[in-house]
Amino acid sequence: MCGIVGYVGQKQALPILLDGLMRLEYRGYDSAGFALYSKDHFEIKRNAGPVQGLIDLTQDCGKTETQGIAHTRWATHGAPNETNAHPHRAGEIVLVHNGIIENYSQIKEYLSKEGVQFSSQTDTEVFAQLIEFRRKEIAKKNPTQSAESTLLQSMKKAIDEVEGHYAIVLMALGIPGKLFGIQNGAPLVVSKLKDGALIASDIQAIIPYHNEVCFLPKGEIFIADKDGFHAKGLKFETIDWTADKVEKNGFESFMLKEIFQQPMVVADTLTGRLPLDQKSPFMWDHQKAHEVLWKNVKRLYLVACGTSSHAAMAAKYYFERWARLDCQVDIASEFRYRDPVFEPGTVVGVISQSGETADTLAALRLANDAGASTFSICNVPNSTIARESSFQYPTKAGPEIGVASTKAFTAQLTMLCALALDVGRLRGIQQTKDSAQKSFHGLARLPQDLDQVLSQSEAFIKIGEKLKNQRIILFVGRGTMYPIALEGALKFKELTYLPAEGFAAGELKHGPIAYIDPDVSIITLAPKDEWYSKTISNLEEIRARGGHIIAIGTEGDTEIQKISNEFIGLPKSAWGTQPILSVIPLQLLAYGCAKALGRNIDKPRNLAKSVTVE
Ligand code: GLU
Repeated sequence: MCGIVGYVGQKQALPILLDGLMRLEYRGYDSAGFALYSKDHFEIKRNAGPVQGLIDLTQDCGKTETQGIAHTRWATHGAPNETNAHPHRAGEIVLVHNGIIENYSQIKEYLSKEGVQFSSQTDTEVFAQLIEFRRKEIAKKNPTQSAESTLLQSMKKAIDEVEGHYAIVLMALGIPGKLFGIQNGAPLVVSKLKDGALIASDIQAIIPYHNEVCFLPKGEIFIADKDGFHAKGLKFETIDWTADKVEKNGFESFMLKEIFQQPMVVADTLTGRLPLDQKSPFMWDHQKAHEVLWKNVKRLYLVACGTSSHAAMAAKYYFERWARLDCQVDIASEFRYRDPVFEPGTVVGVISQSGETADTLAALRLANDAGASTFSICNVPNSTIARESSFQYPTKAGPEIGVASTKAFTAQLTMLCALALDVGRLRGIQQTKDSAQKSFHGLARLPQDLDQVLSQSEAFIKIGEKLKNQRIILFVGRGTMYPIALEGALKFKELTYLPAEGFAAGELKHGPIAYIDPDVSIITLAPKDEWYSKTISNLEEIRARGGHIIAIGTEGDTEIQKISNEFIGLPKSAWGTQPILSVIPLQLLAYGCAKALGRNIDKPRNLAKSVTVE
C-alpha cells in the first residue's frame, strides 16, 4: 500500500525522490524515509509522520548523490514510528518494501538463532536481513565472484524463502550506480528517462517526468542503472495522463477538487459510448468481444471491496431489472476464499479504482483459473486487474488522490448503468418499465444534473458541519438508494472517524431503531421513486422516536419537508441515474463534518488509497 520511489542516473536524486513521495503520499502516510548512495556509504533519513516532516530534515542533504530509494509507509507490522520507517538497513544493503511477508516470524526466529540482531518490528527488516544473511553466506563460499552476482543469488534465495505479496527495491554497498528489485504481487512501474531510470509503486510519481512506462512483470528481478532497466519481459506503453492532473488547482484539498470534477468525469467516461437512440448499441472499445462476453451469460458475479462494492450493489438493481440477469454481489476478501460456483455462462466482473486491490485481484485470478469470462472496471489504465481481465470497461476519472473515493465511484456507477442498459439490449429484453428509456436519457444529461447538484455544495457542507456533535449518524434508503446509503456511511466514517452506519430503510425496525434518540441523525435518501411511500413510513417511525431527520429528496417535495428537520432537494433524475446524483450531498456532508472536526481530508487516519495488502 506504500509509496516506493527509486532513481538512478545523472541528476541529483533527492529532489526527484521527495517529489515522488509527495505524489505517492496518499498511498500511505505513517512515516517516510529515503536512502542515498553516497560514495562509500548510505545517507539514510527517516521520520514518523507525513512526508513534509521528512523534507524539513533534508536541508543539507543530497547535494551530490545521483542514486537513491525512498518510501512512504502504511504500517502493517510494527507501530508507525521512526524505527519502523523504511528504508531498512541490513549490513551492506538498504531496502524499501511494499506489502507483507507472511512467514516473517519463522524467518526472524531462524535468523535470530543465527545471531542476527533486529532493530525494528517490521516484516520488511526481516526480508532485508535474510537477503544480507544469504549474501554473506554466498560470498563466503565464492569469494572471487562479483559483488553483483552474489547479491543477485542472495536475492533469489531469499525470494524463494519468503511468502507473501510484495515489491522491494534495494541498493548494496560496493555496487554503485545500480538499483535492484522485484515485484511479487505488488506493482512497480518503471520509466527510462533521458538522464536515468525512475521506478515507483504507481504512475503518479512517474508521469511528471515521462509518460512512457512499464508495469514490471511479476517475479522477475530487475536491475536499474543510468541507461535504463534490465529484466525479462519489459513492455513500455504510453499513458495518457498528464502531470497537471495531480495538482489541487486552487481547491483546498484533492477530495474537494475531485468532488467538483464529477460532471466532467462522468462526461469523459461516457464520451463516444452513448448511441443516438436506445435501440442502438453502446460503443465499447472492442465491440465484437463485448458481444461475445455477454451473449451466453447465465449468471453475473460482481466482485469488489469498499466503495467499489457499493457501486456493484447498485449495479445489481440495474442488471436484474434491465438485463434480467442473475447478478450476485460479493466482497472480494470473502469471494476469494469461498467456493463460488462457476458454471458455463458465468461472467465475473471486478471493480477497483486502482486496479491493484489485492483481494479483488485474487478474486479475478480465481475466476480466470476456473475458466469464467471476466471483465474489469478500473480507473488506472494498464493496472494489473485491467491487464489480467479478459475485457475492460475503463472509467475515465483520471488520477484520484483523495484517499476517500468520490469521482471514481460516480464514474463506476455511470459505467455500470450504461453497461447494464446495453446488456439488456443485447439479450433482447423487452423493457416493461420506463426506467430503461428514462435512464438512457438520464445518462446523457447526467453531467448537467451533477453541475446543478454541486451548485448547492455550500448548503450541504453547512449541514455536515452541524453533525459533528451527533452520537451516531445513520444513513438509510431503499432500492438503489440502499447502496448509496452504505456509501454515505462509509464516506462519513472514513473522513470524520465518527460512528456511522448504513441500512436498508426497511431494516430499521429489525434492530437499528433501538439506537434512535435526539442525538442520532438519520440521513434518509427518499427521492420520488417507486419506494417513496415506503421510505416515508420508515421516516415516520423515526420521527415518532425523536430522531433528527435529514431528508435528501426531490426538489419541491413538501410532504417530506414536513416530517424532517432538514431537507436537501435534488433535481429529479431517472431511476438509474438518481443514485449517481444522490451520492454527491453525502460526500459533501462528510467533507463538511470532517472539516469542522479538523480532520485531514485527503489523508484520513489509518487509511491508504491503493489497498495492495490482504
Ligand atoms: N509490511 C511493511 C511494513 O509494515 C510494508 C508496509 C507498506 O506497504 O507500507 O513496514
